Amino acid sequence: MKKYQITKKDFTKRLVGLVCHQCGKQVTPLDTVDNSGNPTFWSGCNPCSILDWGVKPEIYKIARMMVVDRHISLGHRFDLPKTEAEREYQEHLNIGSTAHIVQSVLQCQKLILEAQDEGD
Ligand SMILES: [Zn+2]
Repeated sequence: MKKYQITKKDFTKRLVGLVCHQCGKQVTPLDTVDNSGNPTFWSGCNPCSILDWGVKPEIYKIARMMVVDRHISLGHRFDLPKTEAEREYQEHLNIGSTAHIVQSVLQCQKLILEAQDEGD
């Protein structure tokens, strides 16, 4: 019997405070196997049926605000949704794409501010 390299409990600890970048729900451990066939965990979101390492809740909130309140759409162009489920799916994809941009912007901002501090 192959063994897990990390326990579910330890893996779950890594995910505390991280949410799905598309829907904002807590990401959870998913049982899977690595490239060598050993059992392992990946992080994901069951409601969205995606693998996802998660983002900090504030990243998701900013992205959601940009998409829902400010109608910003990055890269996803759709036909008009025919159902509420279709509209929600499109919104989640847009929030997910936007969350990656927001995360990247905040990381760049941090690097710039750190470089400025070192210049003082
Ligand atoms: Zn989700």
